[in-house]
Amino acid sequence: MSDTDFPADVHVLRPRKVSVSKKLDGFLDQAGLAYSSSPIESDATRPSLGRINAVTCADCGQAEYLTREYCRCGHYLSGQLQDEYLTWEEKIHTEHSELSNEVERMLKPLRICYLLTIPFLLVPALHVIFWADSFALTLLLWWMPVLLIAGAGIFAEQHVICPLKDSALFIQNYTFETFLFERSSGFKTSEGW
Ligand SMILES: [Zn+2]
Repeated sequence: MSDTDFPADVHVLRPRKVSVSKKLDGFLDQAGLAYSSSPIESDATRPSLGRINAVTCADCGQAEYLTREYCRCGHYLSGQLQDEYLTWEEKIHTEHSELSNEVERMLKPLRICYLLTIPFLLVPALHVIFWADSFALTLLLWWMPVLLIAGAGIFAEQHVICPLKDSALFIQNYTFETFLFERSSGFKTSEGW
């Protein structure tokens, strides 16, 4: 058999289990240094999940420091973070635009309500034009519904517009740190913290 000839079942060969000492085997088992496919629960060299300085590697699932460009498994963490940021940014813009449409939809009936005030404004005006001599103070009472409808309308409008104003303010002022903060608080919420 030459150096390049291998037995047909080479792929099923297993390394011989060499035991240096039973005490060492016992230590390795206890200290958990043997290879394990289960995630490491607590590792002093890694950040705690849910902290603002931590990122969960999409490849190995371990928590890694945000400042590291690459995870210890070799996964490109900076790229992963950029992707997450862009997805988040897209999401907040979509949500803002949906909210804007929703507010617009809710304001339509309010604007129709304003149209209802027109007759109450016109009656005293027409009365003054055609019967100027007999203008009575009671005609001013016609304007009462106008004041009520306009007042209630403005109040409702402010109430409806308020979340949209908050959202617009957020869109104007968010930074990368806002994303990091939301990310970590989102993790806490999903973990039931
Ligand atoms: Zn990793």
